[in-house]
Amino acid sequence: MMNKVNILVVDDRPEGILAVQAVLNSPSYNIVTASSGNEALKHLLKDDFAVILMDVQMPIMNGFETASVVKTREKSKDIPIIFMSAINQDEQYVYQGYGVGAIDYLLKPFDPYILRSKVAIFVDIYRKNLLIKEQARLIQETEAKAHAREMDRLELESLRKYQNLADSIPQIVFRLKEDGQNDYFNKVWYEYTGLSQANSSEFRWKDVIHPTDIEKLTSLLKDASHTDALECECRILNLHGVFRWHLIRIQPERFEKNQQLSWLGTATDIEDRKQAEETQRFLAEAGEMLVSSIDYRKTLQSISKLAVPYLADWCSFDIMDDSGKLENLVINHRDPKRIEHAKLLHDKYLCNIEGKVGAMSVIKSGQTQVFNSITNELLNDLAIDDDQIHLVKELGDTAAMIIPMTLHGKVFGALTFVSAESGMKYDQNAVSTGEELARRVALAFDNSNLYKMSQDAIEIRNDFLSIASHELNTPITSLKLQLQMVKKGLLMGKEGNFPLERFSKSVEASVKQVDRLINLISILLDVSRIQSGKFTFNFLKFNAKDVINEVVERHKELLQNAECTLDVSGDCDFNVVWDRTRIEQVLTNLLTNAIKYAPGKIEMTIKEDKNHIVIAVHDHGQGIEKEKLATIFDRFERATSNESVSGLGLGLFIVKQIAEGHHGSVHVESKTNEGSTFSLRLPKDVTQFVLPSSTEEARIH
Ligand code: ADP
Repeated sequence: MMNKVNILVVDDRPEGILAVQAVLNSPSYNIVTASSGNEALKHLLKDDFAVILMDVQMPIMNGFETASVVKTREKSKDIPIIFMSAINQDEQYVYQGYGVGAIDYLLKPFDPYILRSKVAIFVDIYRKNLLIKEQARLIQETEAKAHAREMDRLELESLRKYQNLADSIPQIVFRLKEDGQNDYFNKVWYEYTGLSQANSSEFRWKDVIHPTDIEKLTSLLKDASHTDALECECRILNLHGVFRWHLIRIQPERFEKNQQLSWLGTATDIEDRKQAEETQRFLAEAGEMLVSSIDYRKTLQSISKLAVPYLADWCSFDIMDDSGKLENLVINHRDPKRIEHAKLLHDKYLCNIEGKVGAMSVIKSGQTQVFNSITNELLNDLAIDDDQIHLVKELGDTAAMIIPMTLHGKVFGALTFVSAESGMKYDQNAVSTGEELARRVALAFDNSNLYKMSQDAIEIRNDFLSIASHELNTPITSLKLQLQMVKKGLLMGKEGNFPLERFSKSVEASVKQVDRLINLISILLDVSRIQSGKFTFNFLKFNAKDVINEVVERHKELLQNAECTLDVSGDCDFNVVWDRTRIEQVLTNLLTNAIKYAPGKIEMTIKEDKNHIVIAVHDHGQGIEKEKLATIFDRFERATSNESVSGLGLGLFIVKQIAEGHHGSVHVESKTNEGSTFSLRLPKDVTQFVLPSSTEEARIH
């Protein structure tokens, strides 16, 4: 259906209007009438017209004047005007009409057919114009829509590129609205937190920020005055329920007239770096403590205070002595009220030889034990009894690691770390930290032992110096006295008052003191040779009976003087390959010691044991204290409380070196008040152990 077209008919005379209306009566025309120029202009302001039929002769404003105004107005300037005139038929008026923009001129009375045709042409033109305009509008509209679509596509593409870029970055990338509401989070955020988009919307993203760090982060968002990126460190909860430290960097994003619209930020995981820094700090502090004092136990107390809470809620450090007994050096709990429970669990179960878990089992196996989830099943599996399970539950233990301490390839202790209320877990990092601490503690333990040993050695050396000077001084003093006596005798002898047998006794006594001095000096020389690796042997074949008889023979007088008896039993008539002088030295030492320290009944037994010979010297003296038994074969070690019995504490040390130089051994059995037995066990033929090139001479180091 076509719309009606407006046609404006302007005539001051109603009959003129009626005539036109009659001619143009058509359903496709809407005839608008105006009886004056002014009224016509009003209509033109309001509506659009296909053509104006204008009477020329009108009062006030004639047709030409009205047409001039019509042509000056933008809205109506292109509307064709057909003048109608009955009077002004002169050519002059016709020209005037064209001059003011008339398209045509009709003279009254007009031919209805011509009027209809002319109006129809203008209506047709008008309609076509309308169509062209409509098409132009439609084209413009389609183009605008296509342009908008293209813009949307480009925007979407750039957004996608931006998101792809943000997703390809290993850090969390986000954009927040000015007030801190979520605008965008990249893929890493959702993967790390395990949150859905809905759970990260608006301000809900703050749920995974550590409560104590939220304030730090939100205060950054308040300060948009900076042009540089703002930074803070805060903890973000991951999908496993663990907080990890992140470095947050945010930058205000300004687009329109420098107005801030949003915050663009990244969060970089710095947990590993932080942990490494903290571990270094912990180990450095512990290391400093360990070297700051030689009071080992006191130092471990301080270290345990460092380890709790850094590595555990409670911890214990234990070492094992040579008898296999565990000694607790320190036990420390974060909560002093629970220390008794921890001690009970430690003493009764963790140090139990039957236990599958704890210091004792770790020392036995040498393997670190790590439990990151102490469940009922685990407890049922590992606990010794129900009480142990009860204690662990009482303490709230959730994880534990027990680390062996090793020194010179031997496990000698363990460090136990237990986590309870803190919920701490023992990952590879924690285990490495524990192992490093164990290594440093073991080193400090070694150093402290070495220090103690060196202190003991200094003390022993000082004791030895005073004993040695006393020992050397005694024969010298006695020798001097004898010589003075001889000198006096010689002076008196001139007058014949000094009997010769007194001379002989003094000289004899002097020789004894010289022998004693020679003996002492040869002992010192032997020790110095042993020390410098120059203690040599000269192995020869001889009959053992000869040596034993000779030694016994030589001690007869000494035994007699000391009111001792010596009973030798066993067969010793066989050939041996030994260093004869050195074996004489050994037997002399064992025999003189028995005479010195346990005068009375002494027995020497000789027994054959396959390829070995065992010579034992047994006395019935006071015996040697149990604690001293292990050390009497060491240098300068003496076990006697009787200061009057002289000695350097070197005899048994040399005996042991000689026995071992023969690939044999010497050991002692002794009971207080019952006596001692020193047994020397030697291979009959040393050369079976010595390389052929050195059968004659062996060196011990
Ligand atoms: P010294 O006799 O010069 O002290 P030794 O090395 O020969 O040194 O002996 C070491 C220690 O062993 C002695 O000081 C003594 O205390 C103890 N000892 C050795 N033999 C006996 C023994 N038969 N009975 C008791 N104690 C002994």
